[in-house]
Amino acid sequence: MADTNLMSIPGQVDPVPVARDITPRADGRVDLIGLPKDRIRELFEEAGLEPKQAKLRAKQVFHWLYHRGVIDFEAMTDIAKTMRPWLTERFVIGRPEVVEAQHSTDGTRKWLLKTADGHEFEMVFIPDADRGTLCVSSQVGCTLNCRFCHTGTMKLVRNLTPGEIVGQVMLARDALGEWPKGSMAGLDDAEDEGHYTSDGRLLTNIVMMGMGEPLYNFDNVKGALKLVMDGDGLALSKRRITLSTSGVVPMMDRCGEEIGVNLAVSLHAVTKEIRDEIVPLNKKYGIEELLEACAAYPGASNARRITFEYVMLKDKNDSDEHARELVRLLKQYKLPAKVNLIPFNPWPGAAYDTSTPERVKRFSDIVFEGGISAPVRTPRGRDIDAACGQLKTAAEKKSRAQRDREAAKAAEAAEAASV
Ligand code: SAH
Ligand code: SF4
Repeated sequence: MADTNLMSIPGQVDPVPVARDITPRADGRVDLIGLPKDRIRELFEEAGLEPKQAKLRAKQVFHWLYHRGVIDFEAMTDIAKTMRPWLTERFVIGRPEVVEAQHSTDGTRKWLLKTADGHEFEMVFIPDADRGTLCVSSQVGCTLNCRFCHTGTMKLVRNLTPGEIVGQVMLARDALGEWPKGSMAGLDDAEDEGHYTSDGRLLTNIVMMGMGEPLYNFDNVKGALKLVMDGDGLALSKRRITLSTSGVVPMMDRCGEEIGVNLAVSLHAVTKEIRDEIVPLNKKYGIEELLEACAAYPGASNARRITFEYVMLKDKNDSDEHARELVRLLKQYKLPAKVNLIPFNPWPGAAYDTSTPERVKRFSDIVFEGGISAPVRTPRGRDIDAACGQLKTAAEKKSRAQRDREAAKAAEAAEAASV
């Protein structure tokens, strides 16, 4: 159970528990998933291998982990038989635990996952005719509390580690059967490469749009996405990855420079008054500052436009004037932009309603007439609470009374244990 060391993130007002990059399991073994190849090499050296051996073994193991998706050292057939138990004694190949898998009538799939120290989070797979998108979580809960977002009603429990983030992508490949010839196959290299580069994959795109604010977990998200983009890793192009932020201005430049993925910005409103209400982070980083940071986003161009997400809330942010102001702002800052209109996905207790389809259509038309593409996103997976903003884990849905009862019990148990 207790497999997470706690430390505080510098700069946060309240110390937030996060897992360290390496947290040995209860049995002392170290999970290799989420570590860069160099770190694996270091660990092999620390465990007693000669530097040259360590380098070679790290390269082989890395390939098995990310190209073949094996979850057992015994399956690594080009590693000497005697070496495999040595690895098994010291290391593990982790995956988040699947607590529940749900299927929507529209093909969307949602998984409730659990970290090794017992925290639940979710990931969603959305299949389309020409692509398959995995919506990945970056935190358990969120420190921000956008008024229309279900995740925003959860407290931040902790940041996910690089292993837990890249682990979601690996788990999706497991579930979709997208490793070359299954995850345990012992193939020779020629056969493998042929399979690996074959087209027709289901999982083609990744969006960092699950639970949490990815730019408040920058280092771990960066570490995980590096493994996803690494040609020797999961080898997915940065053009197929989009990171969504609610507007953490000071981290946007680093996101472009150091990660280099597509950017989506949760704008949602065009006046200070309304954005302050629905995205409270706006009080810290206002609309002008946010749009300036977008204009300076490294790598943005007409070929690689920034996506502006706009949730359609009835009688709140959906008037003709708002649509015209949106066009004006995007033009004023000369932004290579596209707008994604997201009809609000309701959840129990939400303070807003969804705009009518006619209103959404009219809003979209005005933005289109202004020369900016503004498609309406069809909600996916609403029947299983998998649509944007509906993610909130069951554990967190417990009533306050139930949580209080559990906390009291835990405190009692802790007291009993300490006597
Ligand atoms: N924290 C990041 C990424 C996760 S949220 C961010 O806020 O950008 C992913 C997207 O879903 C965001 O654009 C968010 O504003 C949107 N969203 C949240 N709640 C929603 C809801 N109830 N209906 C529709 N979209 C919602
Ligand atoms: Fe957090 Fe994004 Fe939800 Fe806002 S919309 S509360 S930033 S997950």
